[in-house]
Amino acid sequence: MGGRESTLVLLDKNGIRCDGRKVTEPRRIMIKAGVLKNADGSAYIEFGDNKIIAGVFGPRDVHPKHMSNTDTGIIRCRYHMSPFSVTERKNPAPSRREIEISKVIKEALQPSLMLEKFPRTVVDVFIEVLQADGGSRCAAIDAASVALADAGIPMRDMVCACAAGKVADTIILDVNNEEDQAGQADMPVAYMPNLNKVTLLQLDGVLTHNEYKKCIETAIDGCKLVYQIQRKALTDKFFENGGNQ
Ligand code: ADP
Repeated sequence: MGGRESTLVLLDKNGIRCDGRKVTEPRRIMIKAGVLKNADGSAYIEFGDNKIIAGVFGPRDVHPKHMSNTDTGIIRCRYHMSPFSVTERKNPAPSRREIEISKVIKEALQPSLMLEKFPRTVVDVFIEVLQADGGSRCAAIDAASVALADAGIPMRDMVCACAAGKVADTIILDVNNEEDQAGQADMPVAYMPNLNKVTLLQLDGVLTHNEYKKCIETAIDGCKLVYQIQRKALTDKFFENGGNQ
């Protein structure tokens, strides 16, 4: 954070960001549900230049068996970046960052699922990042939640995720990679819009109390925009062809 701000204009005098967006403008978001034949549920998302695919299996038997819980189903999650997802070739072996992101994505999705209906089973969520450009964990959560709904897993709500942050002392919606690298703060948030519950909140950077409040509110506004696109992805799949897909 803060390293390159002197050379890169993150916010010009007209309030325009380095990629031409206004302060509260998200990047272009496109979600398609049901893109994989061999998964129980799937979704593809383009969130700005992020390109991510999520595949879901389950509820199904747990292997290894000792991981199963007689009271409830469990969720496992793997976030993986392909070697060509970033400018420097990414080592395909799981990095500490991917292990951490897998954990936070699992915790962000878990409260939305009625896993108690499926004791001794597991829901597996596989996320492949084809291209990353800042905010990939949020985009991954958005795709995974649509994939879980596509798999027909009973859910309390969708989970929508979007980041907010701070550049040039201004709170902005949906932080891109350059803003993440050179800006002052990045706050990814996941949110269940109908239950009004936050399931993920991370913060990289320093904010005042008022900035912190504004940042969360801005991120939640972004989540609500994402929710409309997630809903459309599901209605497009299930209703456009009379539910025949
Ligand atoms: P998020 O993608 O959720 O914002 P980070 O803040 O950790 O997660 O990463 C920000 C961005 O940095 C990523 O979206 C990606 O564009 C870039 N990045 C992450 N890991 C690598 C890597 N190993 N090599 C090059 N760029 C990376």
